[in-house]
Amino acid sequence: MNYKETFWMACDSTEQLRAEYGPFYTRAEAEHEAGKLGFGYLLRYEHVIGDNEDIKEVRCIFIELQPGPARPRYLAEKLHTRCATCGACAVHDYSWQAEVWADIHEFEHSRHRIRLFEQTRAEGLKEVTGWRDACA
Ligand SMILES: [Zn+2]
Repeated sequence: MNYKETFWMACDSTEQLRAEYGPFYTRAEAEHEAGKLGFGYLLRYEHVIGDNEDIKEVRCIFIELQPGPARPRYLAEKLHTRCATCGACAVHDYSWQAEVWADIHEFEHSRHRIRLFEQTRAEGLKEVTGWRDACA
């Protein structure tokens, strides 16, 4: 009597030279790991095993994972600058914009001190301390 053994690998492509990670004994585990690694495919291996524990046949099937909802990443979504001296504030998409804004503000108003806050969905506003010292 032959029996069948199934296991799963997470992989990054269907090419010959692909990265594979596993094996996992359930699809859910493999999917979870693929998600963490950013891999887009699962590979399902089926070994048909004969009476003498020998592998008679190997089948493998690629399964493309649907890109799920964007996973929370630790990335600032917006940067907020606020002048601690006069209260002027602005919102920026990139850190260089925040720096330019701060440079202009400090140029126009000597001795004003700009504070920078990162806004992330997970953590809300968080002050980035010492950011002006770093680029001085
Ligand atoms: Zn100011």
